[in-house]
Amino acid sequence: MQHLWKYFEGRKLLSATGPLFKLIEAVLELLVPIVVAKIIDEAIPSGNRSYLFTLVAVMIGLGLVGFILAIAAQYFAAKAATEYARDLTADTFDHALKLSKTDRDKMGGSSIINRLASDTFQIQSGLNTSFRLFLRSPFIVLGSLVMALQINRQISLWFVLMIVILSVIVFTIMKVAAPMLRNIRNKFDRLVTQTREQIQGIRVIKAFTQQHREINEFEETNDDLTKMQLRVGRINALSNPLTYLTVNLILVGMIWQGGHQVSVGTLTQGQLVALINYLLSILVELVKLVVVLDVINKSITSAKRVNAILDLPTEDLTDSQIQEEKNAVVNSALVIDNVNFTYPEANSKALSNINLAIKKGAFVGVIGSTGSGKSTLLNLISKTYEPSEGSIYFNPSLFNIDNLAGLRSDIAVVPGQVTLFKGTIRSNLLMGKKDATDEEIWRALDDAQASEFVKQLSEGLDSPVAAFGSNFSGGQRQRLTIARALIKQAELLIFDDSTSALDYVTESNFQHTLQEKYADRTIIMISQRIHSLRNADLITVLEKGKQVGVGTHEELLKSNEIYQEIYASQAVTEVD
Ligand code: ADP
Ligand code: MG
Repeated sequence: MQHLWKYFEGRKLLSATGPLFKLIEAVLELLVPIVVAKIIDEAIPSGNRSYLFTLVAVMIGLGLVGFILAIAAQYFAAKAATEYARDLTADTFDHALKLSKTDRDKMGGSSIINRLASDTFQIQSGLNTSFRLFLRSPFIVLGSLVMALQINRQISLWFVLMIVILSVIVFTIMKVAAPMLRNIRNKFDRLVTQTREQIQGIRVIKAFTQQHREINEFEETNDDLTKMQLRVGRINALSNPLTYLTVNLILVGMIWQGGHQVSVGTLTQGQLVALINYLLSILVELVKLVVVLDVINKSITSAKRVNAILDLPTEDLTDSQIQEEKNAVVNSALVIDNVNFTYPEANSKALSNINLAIKKGAFVGVIGSTGSGKSTLLNLISKTYEPSEGSIYFNPSLFNIDNLAGLRSDIAVVPGQVTLFKGTIRSNLLMGKKDATDEEIWRALDDAQASEFVKQLSEGLDSPVAAFGSNFSGGQRQRLTIARALIKQAELLIFDDSTSALDYVTESNFQHTLQEKYADRTIIMISQRIHSLRNADLITVLEKGKQVGVGTHEELLKSNEIYQEIYASQAVTEVD
């Protein structure tokens, strides 16, 4: 925990003030029973009123001064602890931002957040409590014992007996309860994580009507947690009766022996009352000590967790590197950052560790065999699902990221499966843009290489489309679907294997149009055919959900085995 000590520097005096005041308060507290003894033994029997009032005044004075000291100690302890935690949190936050991506991913975003929020707070309360009680409680216990020994050695043996028995009870219970408490904390972490996942994935859960399963899962964990807490509660509940039984038995013994000594004259009544007072203050402080030890224990765990962040090396970027990173982000249309995804109820990840920065206006290809995760990636980009881990960032200067509907309007997806609806060509295209003019419709049809065959239809844009577009050929349906997406004039165009039914020449013409008229748009083209992606600025190769290659066609052809295999298999078919 070497990193955490330096935060005491510059506030050593402040940190010492709280404990010091608490010690003075403790000394005053230890004096009170002596004054009480004097009142009982001297002032009351003597009948000297002014002496009695003086002693009572002294007692009240001790209480008042103690009270003021306690409040001051509280203030200084809280101030020292809060300032400590403030500086520690600020530094840890800075440090966390400078961690390398690998380290950040290793520790996990939510773990870092927890360390920054709840662990630093735990450290703060640990410090606050320690400043006030860590010195005071043992001091009062020992002090009371010493005072008792001064008054009467024989009776003080009861004190030793009580301290021993209470310590045994308390530490036995703690030993039994501590592992359970740790277990509860883990269970609780689990519950929080689960809830967080459920809330984040709520759309997916609904889409798959998995609400019941999720509710059951939550209730199971929650029930488990409740049962464990009840068990710990029962064990803890033992501590009070056991403690009070011990204390009262000891008191009975003490009063019995003390009463005997009072009647013999070796002990005064006042002294006996003082002894009882000391015994009770030992009890109170022992109980507090248990709480303090627990808080300190938790704080040490937290301190280790925060220290672990500060232990990681930072990446000190030079100004030009920072500028470069900034430029990369600013010039990106979207950044896929370490994305993982598992479908609900699926056993394995459909995508793991996908990273891709897509520049504005880039033409990005995604290639891979069936089931490699291409459509899954599309679904994540179009926000049909949320990544299980990692994030996809959209550049806010290009995309409306304030709400889902806005974002979706900036993304046009051409699905692999053609979805045309019963109606007319116009009604189908208007689904892409509600208020499109005929001119816009024709332009979209033109770009999608569809205008030629539409023109030949006698009714033009009003030609009927049967359900699923079954009155058109596969290639025509695909071109109408493309036109419906193009008419949206979206910032990002995603084609999911949607040129597969086009013949070679039509596809080449279409690619040409994309390059000329849609050069400023960002395009993601998913395809199983290499020749559809030849001109891409960047191609990513997926295999079983993993990203096995990124590069241009030439680069991948040189160095990527899987790409080479795909190329080899298609080179043959293209000759056909
Ligand atoms: P591609 O588009 O590359 O053919 P997909 O992204 O459709 O691949 O599928 C990737 C993997 O995810 C496959 O193993 C597939 O079985 C699985 N998968 C796809 N959709 C779902 C779903 N809705 N539920 C569960 N698993 C799915
Ligand atoms: Mg697919």
